[in-house]
Amino acid sequence: MKPFVVSIMLLLSSSRLFPREVAEVFTNGKTLDDILWVLIAAMLVFLMQAGFMALETGLSRAKNSINVAIKNLTDFIFSVAAFWFVGYGLMFGRTFSGLFGMSDFFTALDDDSWKATFFVFQAVFVGTAATIDSGVVAERARFSTYLIMSFITSALIYPIFGHWAWGGFFYESQAGWLQRLGFLDFAGSSVVHSIGGWVGLAGAIVIGPRIGRFAADGTPQKIPGHNIVFAYLGVFILFFAWFGFNGGSTLAADPHVAEIILNTIISASFGGITAMFLSMFLGKSKLPEPEMIINGVIAGLVGITAGCAYVGSVSALVIGIGSGFAVYYGTYFLERIGIDDVVSAVPVHAFAGVWGTLATGLFIRERFLAESGLSRIEQVGVQALGVVSCFIWSFGLAYLILRLIKRFVPVRVSIEHEKIGLNIAEHGTSSSISELSDSMRKVISDARIVGVKKLETEIGTEIGDLTNYFNIMIDRLKEKEEIADRALESLKAISIRDGLTKIYNRKYITDYLEEEVKRSKRYSNSLSIIIFDIDFFKSINDSFGHQMGDIVLVRCAETLRNNLRETDVIGRYGGEEFLVVLPETDLQSAYELANRLRENLAQLKWEFDANRKVTVSGGVAENLDDDAAKLIGRADELLYVAKDKGRNRIEK
Ligand code: GH3
Ligand code: MG
Ligand code: MG
Repeated sequence: MKPFVVSIMLLLSSSRLFPREVAEVFTNGKTLDDILWVLIAAMLVFLMQAGFMALETGLSRAKNSINVAIKNLTDFIFSVAAFWFVGYGLMFGRTFSGLFGMSDFFTALDDDSWKATFFVFQAVFVGTAATIDSGVVAERARFSTYLIMSFITSALIYPIFGHWAWGGFFYESQAGWLQRLGFLDFAGSSVVHSIGGWVGLAGAIVIGPRIGRFAADGTPQKIPGHNIVFAYLGVFILFFAWFGFNGGSTLAADPHVAEIILNTIISASFGGITAMFLSMFLGKSKLPEPEMIINGVIAGLVGITAGCAYVGSVSALVIGIGSGFAVYYGTYFLERIGIDDVVSAVPVHAFAGVWGTLATGLFIRERFLAESGLSRIEQVGVQALGVVSCFIWSFGLAYLILRLIKRFVPVRVSIEHEKIGLNIAEHGTSSSISELSDSMRKVISDARIVGVKKLETEIGTEIGDLTNYFNIMIDRLKEKEEIADRALESLKAISIRDGLTKIYNRKYITDYLEEEVKRSKRYSNSLSIIIFDIDFFKSINDSFGHQMGDIVLVRCAETLRNNLRETDVIGRYGGEEFLVVLPETDLQSAYELANRLRENLAQLKWEFDANRKVTVSGGVAENLDDDAAKLIGRADELLYVAKDKGRNRIEK
């Protein structure tokens, strides 16, 4: 037994996975404190992913929330992959004329704890840069488009500019061209945030705005986010994580971390205060807009990122205020020019990033200026050069790549998918709340309840209870709708019938005739009508009473209707006059039918007078000039001819 245990221990201790002595590990002169601090900072920066996720899902609609969340995780894993393969080497490898790095691809980090620490810290940074664009193009960009952009950002766009500004961070002699000129961007107002913002801007332009974001005349229409509280949680996480973002960029356990974090807090606070007051005094609502406060705080964080190690606290305050202005006016500027940025990430990251980078030159303390050997004007000039090259490189390349992708594949989801939401369209998932709101929308927008489906409920959850009430409500509404339908049906039936004879009334039969006239014109079919009038009807009323007159009317109507063909339609045209519409019937056939009907009536026996015959006279006319009124007029004239000729006869 004993030799076995010993041999296992020997094996483990000789394995590279279990280095026996820490002292053998390369640390490039860094102390354990340095490594620990930078690793803790990296963990904080990693948390920014969660912050961005909460922020972006909260500011988008429920139907896209899952998609936004998935993007925030997947962009990070793709970024790490891209950065490990090529990005890191391009950024921190041995330089080619200060333009890009050429070593350290597929980075091997074994037994080099400082390099591993450095890589981890940089990898969470690239993840941050890549995730910014997800908020800008949320709710309509295709998942695949987004992943491609994340990958390209992490593999190419970010590392190249990163090399220009930060290339000498690992191999000190390998600085990029901007760094050599004295460009200062301590934790990445430009390198991380402007890059992310500019890539997002290119995405917003190429992909276009969400449906409904701008009215037909270009007026912006707010699309509210579905969970502002969740967005606020996101900001708290970001704020907290930023202490690591800025504080860790010392790349050492340095006492100056304290001032850096102080500056970070001051700038974020004044960014938030400024944006809040601007929205209260200048905004449409004259209220402290929740999104503006969020964006002001993050803009303040972005703004101080470049200069947090070089400026004093009062300057940090000014930088925060400037960031608040940048985000407030930037947001309205983008709206004005028709660019849809769901979370205002372009103003927050790109515009405040530009301001922060320039402000570093404006407010850098003399001590650091002396170190760089530049005058203040020169420093501002170099900062401006960095800002401009950052824009041209990141926006330009992202724009070109997206245009290229768009030539071959769609970069946004279909209109239908955008409407049902990306949760379902892109991932086949849905949240109960979005199902409920979809069904509610259907109830509101559809005229009828009958097609609305009831939803599955999970009793005991908040949404389950709501759904249950919704289902009950749908049942009630369906019952009401059925009652209303039935009432409407019978009302309709009543409204077209004559109250006494129950055949169609005058309005219905004349409308029907007009339709038939149009139809006969369209298909060149024949169409004829008969008008019957009971002979000496007044005398029945006079001799036997009005009630008997009614009975005669009812029986005549019944007899006429029962002796008609399926396709013929009869209505009461006047007191004791009937109009019969005969589709696809020529004059002669109509005449023959009219005579048959006349005979049918003449044969009826009447109890009020066994010998009395009730007869009718009639006029028959055929449609000749596609005019219902003229047709009735001719039949009416012929009716009077029949009356004149002695009654109980038909004229055509
Ligand atoms: P003619 O042969 O010339 O048609 O003689 P007539 O008596 O039928 O003439 P007229 O058209 O003047 O008379 C129609 C009568 O029908 C007048 C009216 O009092 C009666 N009448 C109209 N509607 C009703 C009804 O709903 N019930 C009853 N009982 N009589 C009605
Ligand atoms: Mg009459
Ligand atoms: Mg009459």
